[in-house]
Amino acid sequence: MSSPPLWNIKIHIIGAGMAGMGSALALARRGFTNIHVWESAPALKEVGAGINLVPNMAKILDRWGVLEVAMAEGVELETANVINCQTDDVLTKVDLAYIRKEFGYPFSVCHRWSLQKALVRGALDTGSVVLHLNRIVIEYDFENTRFKVTEAEHIPVSSSGLSTTSSNSDTITEEKDYDDADEDEFPRWIEADLILAGDGIKSKARGGILSRRGLADDVVESGQAAYRILLKRDLINEDPELVPFFEGSQSYRWIGEGRHVIAYPISSHQTFNITTSHPSHNSQSTIPDSWTNPGSKAEMLDMFGDSCPRLKKLLNFAPEGEVIEWKLRARAPIAQWVEGNIALVGDACHPTLPDLAQGAAQAIEDASVLAHYWYTKLYESQGPIRQLLSGGTNPDKRLDKNIQKVLYDYDCVVEAKNRFHTLFNPVHYS
Ligand SMILES: Cc1cc2nc3c(=O)[nH]c(=O)nc-3n(C[C@H](O)[C@H](O)[C@H](O)COP(=O)(O)OP(=O)(O)OC[C@H]3O[C@@H](n4cnc5c(N)ncnc54)[C@H](O)[C@@H]3O)c2cc1C
Repeated sequence: MSSPPLWNIKIHIIGAGMAGMGSALALARRGFTNIHVWESAPALKEVGAGINLVPNMAKILDRWGVLEVAMAEGVELETANVINCQTDDVLTKVDLAYIRKEFGYPFSVCHRWSLQKALVRGALDTGSVVLHLNRIVIEYDFENTRFKVTEAEHIPVSSSGLSTTSSNSDTITEEKDYDDADEDEFPRWIEADLILAGDGIKSKARGGILSRRGLADDVVESGQAAYRILLKRDLINEDPELVPFFEGSQSYRWIGEGRHVIAYPISSHQTFNITTSHPSHNSQSTIPDSWTNPGSKAEMLDMFGDSCPRLKKLLNFAPEGEVIEWKLRARAPIAQWVEGNIALVGDACHPTLPDLAQGAAQAIEDASVLAHYWYTKLYESQGPIRQLLSGGTNPDKRLDKNIQKVLYDYDCVVEAKNRFHTLFNPVHYS
């Protein structure tokens, strides 16, 4: 039996978050044609809150042709304010125009859903990606590059974690099954040539890789917690003190002792995204399995009870029952990101605390680099047939579209970031 052309290798991706959908899109754009994404959520919709769309991420989205879609409802920030939490005095005001000048793209913010939607739609539009929703991966077989998948329970996303504030019916419910003949047979094993596990901070694949080495997947407590609030503009009754928060293109960071609040407008200026940070030991709520929990509005107001009147007024508008408390936890860095033909991407691999707002950007960088390496590897390995597969080339290498892609898409800073620990701080298992 002849083996399938290399561009048709079976790539299976677990998780339709930024790492998973970014990887699907990047690989499809590099010419891979047989990509499946498995996601436990029954539908993809507006879940989560604001996310920073910063230049290192924006340049990749631009290359993928989805930046405009992601930014359709995003806000390009013009100014960042640092403010005294108690007195409301502005301590620093930074004009952010230099970010675009220095880094080629502005400092923007958007709803997580805008970004996810852009990646999902971009990936599906390539025609090379199949998205399987409501499918949860319950086991990995590292020896045989396969995983066991079953139907996920139809539980609302909010109860499994992050905030859910659906302002519209914009939902992706695309659902195609892998093999129609086996449609009703769950659980079942799916075989792959390559598996990318983008299954987030609580990654099952990561736990599997570590346990094969007798290592625990330890949680690192930061001692901090965060409340996340999305204020809709129609809630504030056009209060003249609060309207500028929505209409402007500014971010606000109120700082106080051991606490801060960061806020900015998203969703075409119709939502004001507020995230706090405070010591978690002050919180009264218990921490079940879930890392994000429904928070208490009263407790949140109490936490910021000594703040300036303008901030208190803002926090007071938080809809009852929609305050989410997020215990800020991390994972210890791991040395092994790949086991056999199964690799970790995004938060599954290197989850970060939100302080630098780089979690989504790093997931997208992973996807970009992985696709680049796979493309280059396969392209180089194909020798004489590569010209046929790449659909037209030029013998002058400088003018060859594929060579140009390899050279001009290369981003040495992304490379340096990704290889930092290998080059500067190698860790080896004994
Ligand atoms: C629902 C949600 C909302 C978020 N909201 C924000 C936000 O508002 N602001 C912010 O800065 N960051 C947010 N994050 C985190 C941020 O998106 C990530 O840190 C970052 O984008 C890294 O992305 P990731 O794809 O690696 O992981 P994630 O975004 O966590 O995606 C992982 C995906 O894998 C799926 N999955 C997990 N396990 C399995 C399994 N066994 N089988 C199948 N599918 C599985 C999950 O449902 C999820 O869709 C959110 C994450 C999630 C899951």
